[in-house]
Amino acid sequence: MNMAEMENPAGLRGELRRNEPMTRHTSWRAGGCADRAYAPADLEDLRVFLMSLPPREPVYLVGLGSNLLVRDGGLRGTVVFTHRILHGLRFEGNAIYAEAGVPSPRVARFAAMHELTGAEFLAGVPGTVGGALAMNAGCYGGETWAIVESVTTLDRAGQLRQRTRANYDIGYRAVVLRGGAEEWFVAARFKLARGDSAKSRATITQLLERRISTQPLNRPNAGSVFRNPPGDYAARLIEACGLKGLVRGGAQISEKHANFIVNTGGARAADIEALIVLAETRVREQFGIALEREVRIIGEK
Ligand SMILES: Cc1cc2nc3c(=O)[nH]c(=O)nc-3n(C[C@H](O)[C@H](O)[C@H](O)COP(=O)(O)OP(=O)(O)OC[C@H]3O[C@@H](n4cnc5c(N)ncnc54)[C@H](O)[C@@H]3O)c2cc1C
Repeated sequence: MNMAEMENPAGLRGELRRNEPMTRHTSWRAGGCADRAYAPADLEDLRVFLMSLPPREPVYLVGLGSNLLVRDGGLRGTVVFTHRILHGLRFEGNAIYAEAGVPSPRVARFAAMHELTGAEFLAGVPGTVGGALAMNAGCYGGETWAIVESVTTLDRAGQLRQRTRANYDIGYRAVVLRGGAEEWFVAARFKLARGDSAKSRATITQLLERRISTQPLNRPNAGSVFRNPPGDYAARLIEACGLKGLVRGGAQISEKHANFIVNTGGARAADIEALIVLAETRVREQFGIALEREVRIIGEK
C-alpha cells in the first residue's frame, strides 16, 4: 500500500490525519508532528486499521501523552489515539474491566465508589490505562501490574489475546512482553479487594493534596523525567548538582521539583531534551550514577 492509499483507508470509520501536531496530544505541549494520526471509531475499527497498515509502518499507541515527547523533527509513522475511544469501564464478575483509553484516575474513583480498594494510587497518574500498563505506572506504594488480573492485547494481524502477568517481565516503570512480539494493550481486568468507599476516597484526596503541594502542576510537564535510582531520588541528585531552576529556551528544570521539567511557554522538544541530557551528564560526573529516563522520547531531531 502506498501513502496515497492510506489517505482513505477502505472500510474504516475512524479519522486519519496527516501531519498531526503532537503538541496537542502530549502533556508537555511541545514537539513535532506525527506523519499520520488515526483516531479509530472503536476497537473493531482499530483492529481493521492495524491490519490495513503496511507491515513496516511504525505504530505508536498514545493515550494522554503524559509520559511522551515527540522530537521537533516529527515522527515517521502512525500514531493511534485511544483516549475517549477505548472508553469501556465496568464490573466483570468481581473485577473491574477498563479499556485502554480510560483515564487511570477514573479507574481509581470507580473502584472507590464501588467499595473496592487497591487502585487509589491511580488517581495520581494522569494518563490512560494503556499508558499505565505500558509503563507499570505507580506511586505511593502502588503499581499498576500489582493489581492486574489479565490484559487484552491486539497485534498488527488484528489478533486479540488474553494475557497475564506471567507473559511479561515487569519491573519498576518497565514492562516487556516475553518473546518480544509487537502487541498493544486494549483493556485490563483489575482484581481488587473489598474495601471501604469513604476510606478510599479520603486516601485519594490526601494523595492529590500531597501532589499539589510537591509538584509543579500549573505548568505543562510529563511527571518525573527520570526513574529514581535504587535507594536514592533523581530529584535529590539533580538538585545537588545545582540544576534546579535551570532554563533552556522555553523549558525549565522545575524550581518546585527537580525531577520535573516544565514548559514555561513555547518550549521546543529540543529545549526539554537538552535539559534532560544536561541533568544526565552532570549527575554522572558528580555522583557516578547513570540516570535512566522514565519519559519516552520518540521522533527525529
Ligand atoms: C503531573 C504528572 C504526574 C505524573 N505522576 C506519575 C506517577 O506518580 N507515577 C507514574 O508512574 N507516572 C506518572 N506520570 C507519568 C504518566 O502519567 C504515566 O506514565 C502514565 O501511565 C502514562 O499514560 P499515558 O496514557 O499518558 O501514556 P502516553 O504518554 O500516551 O504513552 C506512554 C508510553 O506508553 C505507550 N502506550 C500508551 N498507550 C498504550 C497502549 N494502549 N498499548 C501499548 N502501549 C501504550 C506509548 O506508546 C508510550 O510509549 C505523571 C505525569 C504527569 C504529567
